[in-house]
Amino acid sequence: MNLKELKIGESAVITEVGGEGALRQHFLDMGVIPGAYVTVVKLAPLGDPMEIRIHGYELTMRLAEAEQITVDPNGKRADQVPEVRETVHADHPGLGEDGKYHNKKEEHPLPEGTTLTFALVGNQNSGKTTLFNQLTGSNQHVGNFPGVTVDRKDGVIKGHPDTLVTDLPGIYSMSPYSAEEIVSRNFVIEEKPKTIINIVDATNIERNLYLTMQLLEMNIPMVVALNMMDEVTGNKGAVDINRMEEMLGVPVVPIAALRNQGVDELVEHAVHIARYQEKPQQQDFCSKEDMGGAVHRAIHAVQAIIEDHAERAGLPLRFAATKILENDPLVLDILKLDDNEKEMIEHIVIQMEKEGGLDRNAAVAAMRFRFIDSVCRSAVRKPVESKERLRSEKIDSILTGRWTALPCFILIMGLVFWLTFNVIGAFLQDQLAAVIGSLAEVCDNWLISAGVNAAVHDLVIKGIFEGVGSVLSFLPIVVTLFFFLSMLEDSGYLARIAFVMDKLLRRIGLSGRSIVPMLIGFGCTVPAVMSTRTLPSKRDRMMTILLTPFMSCTAKLPIYGFFANSFFPHQAGWIMIGLYVLGIVTAVLCAYLFKNTLFRGEAVPFVMELPNYRMPGLKNVMHLLWEKASDFLTRAFSVIFVATIVVWFLQSFDMHLNYVTDSSLSIMSSAAGVLEGLFRPIGLGDWRIITALISGFMAKESVVATLQVLLGDNITSVLTPLSAAAVLIFSLLYTPCVAAVASIRRELGSRWAIGTVIWQCSLAWLMTFLLRFVLMAFGLS
Ligand code: GDP
Ligand code: MG
Repeated sequence: MNLKELKIGESAVITEVGGEGALRQHFLDMGVIPGAYVTVVKLAPLGDPMEIRIHGYELTMRLAEAEQITVDPNGKRADQVPEVRETVHADHPGLGEDGKYHNKKEEHPLPEGTTLTFALVGNQNSGKTTLFNQLTGSNQHVGNFPGVTVDRKDGVIKGHPDTLVTDLPGIYSMSPYSAEEIVSRNFVIEEKPKTIINIVDATNIERNLYLTMQLLEMNIPMVVALNMMDEVTGNKGAVDINRMEEMLGVPVVPIAALRNQGVDELVEHAVHIARYQEKPQQQDFCSKEDMGGAVHRAIHAVQAIIEDHAERAGLPLRFAATKILENDPLVLDILKLDDNEKEMIEHIVIQMEKEGGLDRNAAVAAMRFRFIDSVCRSAVRKPVESKERLRSEKIDSILTGRWTALPCFILIMGLVFWLTFNVIGAFLQDQLAAVIGSLAEVCDNWLISAGVNAAVHDLVIKGIFEGVGSVLSFLPIVVTLFFFLSMLEDSGYLARIAFVMDKLLRRIGLSGRSIVPMLIGFGCTVPAVMSTRTLPSKRDRMMTILLTPFMSCTAKLPIYGFFANSFFPHQAGWIMIGLYVLGIVTAVLCAYLFKNTLFRGEAVPFVMELPNYRMPGLKNVMHLLWEKASDFLTRAFSVIFVATIVVWFLQSFDMHLNYVTDSSLSIMSSAAGVLEGLFRPIGLGDWRIITALISGFMAKESVVATLQVLLGDNITSVLTPLSAAAVLIFSLLYTPCVAAVASIRRELGSRWAIGTVIWQCSLAWLMTFLLRFVLMAFGLS
């Protein structure tokens, strides 16, 4: 029977994993291997995908994939087979002052002054970012990995000026499945950090150690940071650290990153290991007893064959050999083996499959899990059913429950937006606006009393204070929205939303994972486009990127707020909601269109871990908010500031550079006049509106800043409510800002970026044109 046929709450042992290629490898890497014990936890509210429990954690997969996994309810569990492994006892030389893993006579410390580089590697949600923030404090800078737009955070460890830590995207295995995982893998292989800090979630140790084993094969000095120990010990679990160190051959330091416990000791070990370049003592995880020694013999045989190639290619031998057994195309490529050698290896593989009874990928994965099993048996006392798990289960029974999931989702998102716009954000916004207003007044009086010339006075008051100031007052709303989005993400709820929404999204040709970039898109399109890197298929990634700009980002808020409050003060709230909904509806329609034209085919399979719910760390959230706030401020004082001054200049001077008081004689009005023909059919044939929309390409907030400069408070006398509605619809849909277009370009290339601009402008024009008639029919004029 297959996994799909298993009822909810029933358990069975996996006997075979079907499928092929990268997806199958991904399943194996996630622990879905023959011999593993699975329990079906539940189905998503819409009946698909399913949630299973395996190796003590929760995994989701679609029914179509579950169908390919054969199970036997009465099968033999691999983890109940009596222990056969005799652990190889590693030699622990010189416990003296120079540490544990190197011999004083043979030490080669790196010269003083060498920068010690550390890579922070671990599964998703293992606490990397939390640890990174603890390690670096505020000494961090955010950038991108060369050539790709994945966030790269570097920082210097507090108190160790000659260090550099890099926070890598979370990975499950060294066989990359998504674009982000490729970044992490390449970083370790190519940039060769001096030391790896492998962060392991101790509450989920079996799955986390899978990556650890592959990292050990890299033969790079390494420390294991056993995180979340507070949860383990809090639930009467324990880890025999010394035993684990002995079996893994690297220092293991128990920590609780969130509480800053054990972090100092971790730093001490990491710096020491890096300084003395202490390599892992243990790489030989295969054993003669395991599967009759089939995998063990195969790995060592391949090692002997490829030794010279690996050396030439600069790849660690053991890593290269296991990857070859797994048929990893990238490694095969780098090694440049002869046909003869390839053939020998093929024979070895066939023999291994025959003797071990499992195909090559499953055999290697099973070998790893056997070793992990023996580590866990001898060094880990599993906690009783932990409080956090039980709590997660309880929360999940509601948040992903059959009848409650969708209402909860709507309620939570509604609450987030209501709190952001109506309660917290709005309150802070009023305060800030008042402060800016009184500052402007003080400045105004001062300029007048100092007798400054009229043009400069105009620039400062109209240009800077009204333009930049009106944008600046939105800072609280932006920060509040990002606060909620990061709470949703860090707590683990976003993963649940993906699980719940998968089936719906599949209708429009996407997978549940695409919901995450879309929700982030309500904050800002730039990080949203970046976060599509977690999607494992190019097709899904492209489609998601093209749809995220329709999610109204916070930069469009000033526009909505300004127009709604000026023209429809009594329905402002509804108009905001209506615009958000219109954006989403347009995205859905576009998705249908794309699905049947540009991107035919199926969305990727949905294999995802559901982490325990956790309280997000205050420090992490604060860090993120600070990042977003400073980002916003920099934009306000660079792009928007400059745009405001340019607009002010162009509307204050005529072609002969004479200062004009009537701006319809200005340079701007003549220039924008050219486009009037194009905008007249949608009711926007006013040069000031056109100018504002053009400046919105630099940054959406500029639209309002520009209008403030051009019109001051006269907006209602210049525009009709119908035109105001047209501006709103047009600015909701037209081109994303330069920053967003640039990030689309980095992901998809110039052609797609330019295409997006043209496509969205045309769509915006068309929608505005059509909706204007609808609004007219409702009596708006
Ligand atoms: P990343 O995905 O690896 O970057 O993980 P994060 O740093 O975002 O952490 C994931 C979640 O685990 C967050 O909600 C953290 O607050 C939480 N967390 C991190 N470290 C600890 C810890 O030591 N103990 C506990 N109880 N929770 C932690
Ligand atoms: Mg992180």
